[in-house]
Amino acid sequence: MSDSQLQTCEECVPPAEAFSVIGNETRLSILEALWNAPERPVPFSTLHARIEMRDSAQFNYHLQQLVGQFVRRTEEGYDLRHAGENVIQAVLSGSFNQNPDREFDIEGECVVCGGSLDARYHDEHITILCLDCGQRHGEYAFPPGGLTDRTDREIMAAFDQRVRHLHCLAADGVCPACNGKMETTIHYEEECCLKLDLQVDHRCSQCRHRLCSTAGLRLLEHSAVMSFYQYHGMDLGSIPYWQLPWCVSDEYVEVLTEEPWNLRVRIPLEGEELFVTLDGALDVEKTERVSAA
Ligand SMILES: [Zn+2]
Ligand SMILES: [Zn+2]
Repeated sequence: MSDSQLQTCEECVPPAEAFSVIGNETRLSILEALWNAPERPVPFSTLHARIEMRDSAQFNYHLQQLVGQFVRRTEEGYDLRHAGENVIQAVLSGSFNQNPDREFDIEGECVVCGGSLDARYHDEHITILCLDCGQRHGEYAFPPGGLTDRTDREIMAAFDQRVRHLHCLAADGVCPACNGKMETTIHYEEECCLKLDLQVDHRCSQCRHRLCSTAGLRLLEHSAVMSFYQYHGMDLGSIPYWQLPWCVSDEYVEVLTEEPWNLRVRIPLEGEELFVTLDGALDVEKTERVSAA
């Protein structure tokens, strides 16, 4: 274990020990009861009453194992610490115990050929693909908990929001999985999941989480792009990203220079074009609006 990536600091609880503390049904029930409690902190007797365990000494033993890292004891009773909340959130996200596989109805057509789109869920990822031309419209992680209590339309809307959010964080250098440092690189790639020629790759140096994207996805929240759509009477935030050709296909990206990288994304809309110049870190350097020839 000397070259383990799961290094911990001097005062941290070793990860294996933390997992062993919560690897017990009674303790998970206690965390869940605290999570569901209408008011917190919860007095010992109230908490005990919510857990099906007659033996009060045994109940107390399990509760005390959680105190410190997962549960906080105060004068009024017991409360969840952030780590305890994380455990319940991880269980609710479904990653540990669900592995669904299914297809969805998806609105809209392929932005490249007008063909029909196919959206499916597999290995905790949603993939959108054109059945006619094969153009990939994205493949991104979506925890199974996101499928609960949503119609297909709502799932796809949630997926759209999630993809926007993931790219926003990643391009700002924050890993959406672990908050570690994310590096953005640009390179030519034929075998990436999006089958792009020019790929924007965000990679976390801490957990190796990786997001593969088009340069256009970086621009969904940019003020010049949003106001360009607004000027044409459209709300950019309400158009699913896979219905924006410049977010899907790299045909809209022109490489101006390679060392250092300078890219120009062309955004056509109703007889006008917005040109956005980006540097290698995907920061916007310049925007220019022209009437389409
Ligand atoms: Zn197509
Ligand atoms: Zn990370």
